[in-house]
Amino acid sequence: MSHSDQQRHQQRMAAKKRVVDERIAHAQTERGVLILLKGNGKGKSSSAFGTMARALGHGQRAGVVQFIKGRRETGEHLFFADHPRVDFHVMGHGFSWESQDLERDRNAAQAAWQQARQLLEDKRYHIVILDELSYMLKYGHLDPQQVAGALSARPHHQNVMITGRTMDNALVAIADTISRIDDEKHAFRLGVKAQPGIEY
Ligand code: ATP
Ligand code: MG
Repeated sequence: MSHSDQQRHQQRMAAKKRVVDERIAHAQTERGVLILLKGNGKGKSSSAFGTMARALGHGQRAGVVQFIKGRRETGEHLFFADHPRVDFHVMGHGFSWESQDLERDRNAAQAAWQQARQLLEDKRYHIVILDELSYMLKYGHLDPQQVAGALSARPHHQNVMITGRTMDNALVAIADTISRIDDEKHAFRLGVKAQPGIEY
């Protein structure tokens, strides 16, 4: 590398550092955030549980409500449910598209929402995961305004992550961070069977 190359590199890095330092100086607010993970690609729930592992690593307390229960026991439930700082709730029955009983689905959604509300009212929880909550809004099992109201009233430092393919506008309006995971390719379409540790 020539001397002038090195000088140019140094100047560029110094300029970059100034910009980054300025942004860091600007971001001074300390509060919890609402994060929405949406889109048709794979990686929403696993990202939420990865973040929860991160929080637990810092000694924080976590609460989880999974709004859709699969036929199979998930790795996240097997791994986290017995953790002393995790309260893990799974909604009471199978896939919603396997059930034709609207009344039963609504009751199960309401019961799971009561558990979510308790977590959102309890300042001991640093992080709350509401996995697949968005389906409950999409199918009209829960009222978006009521959900948004409870989220807005949560403890100041509490972080919340909500997953689901589509997100209601009422949640989008109050979210701090929204990430969309796109489906560019998926092994399922190549005929690869769902496997433990990857899909569930
Ligand atoms: P993951 O739990 O793996 O992070 P996800 O939460 O982003 O996935 P969901 O929409 O909740 O995805 O789908 C649940 C299940 O379907 C998971 O087993 C996931 O691996 C699988 N899946 C996710 N996206 C796709 C896709 N585009 N095609 C087929 N299967 C998918
Ligand atoms: Mg998911």
